[in-house]
Amino acid sequence: MKRCITCGKMIKDFAEFPCADCGTKIARCKHCREVKNPYKCECGFKGP
Ligand SMILES: [Zn+2]
Ligand SMILES: [Zn+2]
Repeated sequence: MKRCITCGKMIKDFAEFPCADCGTKIARCKHCREVKNPYKCECGFKGP
């Protein structure tokens, strides 16, 4: 289980990718990916 970076929910089905800026692993749920919610990394970087 991981916490979705965008909606903050604990998720089982997630996509994980590195932040384009700092490389930190970011997890995002399927829903947030489908609706293309932006993410905000802990480093402050925002991406699609
Ligand atoms: Zn989400
Ligand atoms: Zn980052």
